[in-house]
Amino acid sequence: MEERLERAEQAFRALRGTSFAERAGWMRRVAGLLEEEAERHGRMMTLEMGKPLEAARAEALKCAATCRYYAEHAERFLADEPVDTAPDTSFVRYQPLGAVLAIMPWNFPYWQVVRFAAPALMAGNVGLLKHAPSVPGCALALEELFTRGGFPPGAFQTLFVEVAEVRRLIEEPRIKAVTLTGSEGAGRDVGARAGGQLKKVVLELGGSDPFVVLPSADLDAAVETAVKARLINTGQSCIAAKRFIAPASIYPEFERRFVERMRRVVVGEPLEAGTEVGPLALAHIRDGLHAQVEKSVAAGTTLLLGGQKPPGPGFWYPPTVLANPPPGCPAHREELFGPVAVLFRAKDTEDALRLANDTPYGLGATVWTRDEAEQRLFIDGLEAGTVSVNGSVASDPRLPFGGVKHSGHGRELARHGLLEFLNIKTVRVS
Ligand code: NDP
Repeated sequence: MEERLERAEQAFRALRGTSFAERAGWMRRVAGLLEEEAERHGRMMTLEMGKPLEAARAEALKCAATCRYYAEHAERFLADEPVDTAPDTSFVRYQPLGAVLAIMPWNFPYWQVVRFAAPALMAGNVGLLKHAPSVPGCALALEELFTRGGFPPGAFQTLFVEVAEVRRLIEEPRIKAVTLTGSEGAGRDVGARAGGQLKKVVLELGGSDPFVVLPSADLDAAVETAVKARLINTGQSCIAAKRFIAPASIYPEFERRFVERMRRVVVGEPLEAGTEVGPLALAHIRDGLHAQVEKSVAAGTTLLLGGQKPPGPGFWYPPTVLANPPPGCPAHREELFGPVAVLFRAKDTEDALRLANDTPYGLGATVWTRDEAEQRLFIDGLEAGTVSVNGSVASDPRLPFGGVKHSGHGRELARHGLLEFLNIKTVRVS
């Protein structure tokens, strides 16, 4: 670890002497490698954490697009900004901080890392990755990609360390800032420790995203999108839609169609074409999810589909639908990280908005309505980092991504993500 910290320092000094154009060239080469080798990287993800291969290949390509996005835009985003303070001359300059520790999860083992690394390296920072222990091959492949792309040795390194060592790293003076994508508990711990060291921290934590369907919506399209939004990555996504809310006037029809569509989902081997839902990634994820379902049903939640843990090997869990959980039970308050949807019957539109916000989380939120006044009401009123109207929530390198409330703070992607780990230096010349 000591060697790697030292190498990171040297790489930071080396990167300070490089131009945007040089770094953009290396970043484009990384993008090219991801594109040429999408099959190899996709297989690595599928074998280590079980996501369907088609989605894994798409993840590698999305990483490539993000590398290209920052290669193209970073220089313009970080150019000096003149500010009129006549008679003085003033400007804002953006400068990198140094080594950033990135603590990452297994669910999107390439994407979560690249959406941090591409802007960080383009800005001239260096990255040290503590990846989830279940995806070591992905962690090494990512380090190799940045080296093969041409970045100086040490600009992006993987550390195989446990949480106790991560805590020491947060205190280490050579680490200048920390970013974490993971659970709320990990976020509280890392945020508190980084705060104790007065270090900048970005936290991308969980979500319990609402998906509201109102009477004017195209119900067929809404149901199709709702099921896909719940089952993305076998339900193991922070921005998967998790709570589905419809007012009483359309609730019975929404419920009927939603359950019917969930029943038809193709569950299967993740390496086989056509598989929509694979196994869950880890034993504790499946056991935790099943315990949440059982507790919710025992508390009075209606079980409409699934809910049984299949016998035999593998961490399989069936597409499951719960309805109208009583307040306080897990399906009402907690994040369900797997293929389990929770339906809520609202009294009316206002009540649907209230239910949508009735969660400690605030990552993404979706509303389906063709009524413009309702669209305005929800765009304004939803407590979330992202609002999607007549679609689903998805990250995009051109748009900032992050949450409010217990979903964390700070932003990734777009120009906003690039600015997180920089010294925004004010210069005034009299
Ligand atoms: P964790 O949050 O425990 O793990 C994510 C990463 O954080 C891992 O690299 C982990 O390392 C590390 N980590 C965990 N605790 C600490 C800590 N105190 N200090 C420093 N690093 C830490 O997620 P799990 O894999 O256990 O999943 C549990 C739940 O978290 C899920 O059910 C889901 O609700 C949520 N989650 C959310 C994600 C998101 O995209 N926002 C992604 C993954 C999970 P290690 O594994 O070595 O402990």
